[in-house]
Amino acid sequence: MDSVKVLPGKGKEITVERTAVAHINPKNCVNCGTCRELCPMEAISESQRVICRICPECTEQDAMTFDEMYEFTTKAACTTGCPLGISPQGYINLTRTGKLEEAYKLVWDKNPLPSVCARICHHPCEQVCKRGVLVDEPIAIRSIKRYLGEKTTFRAEKYPRLYEERIAVIGAGPAGLTAGQYLSRAGYEVTVFESATEAGGMLKRGIPEFRLDRSVVDEEVTNLENAGLAIRLNERINKHSLEKIQKEYDAVIVAAGAPNSKELKIEGWRLSGVMTAMDFMEQVNHRQEIRRHPGQIFNLGGEVVVIGGGSVAIDTARAALRMGATKVTAVCLECDEEVPCHPWELKEAEDEGITLIQSHSPTRFVGTYPKLEGVEVCKVTSFSKDGKGKISCELDENDTMTIKADWAIVAIGQAPDTMWSSLKGDRVYFAGDISKSACSVIDAMASGRKVALNVDTDLRGRTLKDPMDTHELHSAPLSEKIYPYNRRKSIRPEIPMLAAESRIHSFDEVEGGFDDEAAQMEVLRCLRCGYQVVDEERCIGCGICQRECPEGDVITMEPVAKGGEK
Ligand code: SF4
Ligand code: SF4
Repeated sequence: MDSVKVLPGKGKEITVERTAVAHINPKNCVNCGTCRELCPMEAISESQRVICRICPECTEQDAMTFDEMYEFTTKAACTTGCPLGISPQGYINLTRTGKLEEAYKLVWDKNPLPSVCARICHHPCEQVCKRGVLVDEPIAIRSIKRYLGEKTTFRAEKYPRLYEERIAVIGAGPAGLTAGQYLSRAGYEVTVFESATEAGGMLKRGIPEFRLDRSVVDEEVTNLENAGLAIRLNERINKHSLEKIQKEYDAVIVAAGAPNSKELKIEGWRLSGVMTAMDFMEQVNHRQEIRRHPGQIFNLGGEVVVIGGGSVAIDTARAALRMGATKVTAVCLECDEEVPCHPWELKEAEDEGITLIQSHSPTRFVGTYPKLEGVEVCKVTSFSKDGKGKISCELDENDTMTIKADWAIVAIGQAPDTMWSSLKGDRVYFAGDISKSACSVIDAMASGRKVALNVDTDLRGRTLKDPMDTHELHSAPLSEKIYPYNRRKSIRPEIPMLAAESRIHSFDEVEGGFDDEAAQMEVLRCLRCGYQVVDEERCIGCGICQRECPEGDVITMEPVAKGGEK
């Protein structure tokens, strides 16, 4: 037997006798990261293989020196790209080996809204996928996640309650639901208070159905309820009810989002026909007639100008088209790479016939009271944004034009309710849009996760570190080098999309999912860049990694004799 010093827990250092150390077989490891996160000794870390870019057989891209190849090795990988810390390599390769349920579970354990994210996440993991950065196109990670959601029949089981403490979450949007899931799984009773008639927050109010079918959100919410989350709808929280909640619960997480669209109070902003994106999208999503004022109904066949260049503006423009607008023009201050929406969002909008006029600022709404007739815009000659997102720009006042408009929809950002700004207290936490402006869905969820970990740490006095904070990439030895030439050479399958001409007449989901053949082709393109390695000096041989590894034949416990000999 051999002995290892255990790292101090709560100020106590102990030494344990070990009889074995774990060994991970890099060939079979799918790099799901489960063992690394569970290891109580932080003895497991991730190694990334060097991807060879020397000779032209490997890729059609420029050759790289060894130093350059090494630099890319530990810079980023799909396993560090997900804001929730999920390992795409893990679920891609569990899919490859036919373990679809395990693959889906790997996602669900950290992401309570897998099928939602499989449709609307801006997939930062794909942006750092090494196949995309170094070889050809990134793995279609988001589509593989969608495939798993469509192929599996996962039903969550109730998490056991372990602790007395009760947690209140205000807001059943992505941040609140994520915080709720993490704390339910940790063993707390969690109640989510939602002011609307249904859970989902912005997923239901702001995101159009042609990007996210409502039934997908409902199914994920049902799963969370099955897991133990109590969601109380129609509960609008005011100062009085908040005080009551603070007394009754041991911690309060405010994840109420930023539901109020900012208004653009320039000349003519009260003309009939000017409205905010949130008002518009909420009415579209609830299938109501669009009204700016009583008596005025969205003019089917009219021309629409959307002000803003972010994702909400593009969604709004595309929704206006589906509501019957004959012409939709969006206008934004930014130009080229500065345009805040994602390039694929703009491409899909342009395919549908929407025009984005860049580098222009609205200066007034034009019309004969009460009716809007156009939007005057002025050329932006310089644009900048500081670290806090504050915009400064200069305009050329001699360079203006008026765009004809029956409706102008303002999509220049959202703000939280002011009542939360004065809320204080020992066990009060803020998550999502309310804590950070202009959050994407996945960033809001990541914020919910982080807050949940903080609540658990504070309530339990834990000293364990967040596995995402200790996740580092190391270089694997050269013997593990990947030669892309040897790996499967195939192009990324097309993601099915409805044709632009037909899709603008309905709210059907534009993007479709992979069939079995496309999914299997795609998982084979993964280069399997990383694997986990055990630090034998730290391993105490507890075997938890071997028990929890979802792949067989990966971890062996190798006996050690006294003095450390194997
Ligand atoms: S090729 Fe596979 S393992 Fe490598 S970064 Fe892309 S998805 Fe991850
Ligand atoms: S050893 Fe097993 S648990 Fe650890 S990353 Fe590899 S496949 Fe996952």
